[in-house]
Amino acid sequence: MPSIILDPGHGGRYSGATHGSNKEEEITLDIANRVRFKLIDVGASPVYQTRYEDEDFGGVDGNDDINKRVDYVNRTFSGYGALISIHVNTALGSTGVYWYDGSKATEYERTESRALANDMNLELFGVGSVWTEDWAILRDTWESCPKVLAEIGQIDDEWSEDYYREAIAQRVTDGILRYFRRYYPI
Ligand SMILES: [Zn+2]
Repeated sequence: MPSIILDPGHGGRYSGATHGSNKEEEITLDIANRVRFKLIDVGASPVYQTRYEDEDFGGVDGNDDINKRVDYVNRTFSGYGALISIHVNTALGSTGVYWYDGSKATEYERTESRALANDMNLELFGVGSVWTEDWAILRDTWESCPKVLAEIGQIDDEWSEDYYREAIAQRVTDGILRYFRRYYPI
């Protein structure tokens, strides 16, 4: 099966949402690492990440850093089969897995992104969804493939508990596998 790109949101100077000792940049990286190992365990390799450390992409502010992140993806990866950006929302923010439905996406990309978002939402939150967002990491990455941004929870959830992180990572993994099992025997 094709490679999967996991994109842990934020990092470096741009830490994202915080609540007490919970920091979005740290949680997204930890969840991505867990999901990568789980996917590799079931033979869904190769799996790559946009970052493996607490680092940013050299942007002069948060928005510019996202554009630099997009540039990095376009420079570094091609031919991948899915891109999954992982975020944790603020305490008042919405959770859910979102896809881009705009004119920069091919019809294939829109159809498959919606399917991946639906499968991940079913595993993470127990509901299928048609939620869309116009985010650069989905819109401006060049590859025509399923791409979603997952707000996997809120920053004041139980991220200090290992069992909680493990449960969420398993649900993210199960959502990705639910999608790929439509096409591959994994
Ligand atoms: Zn975020």
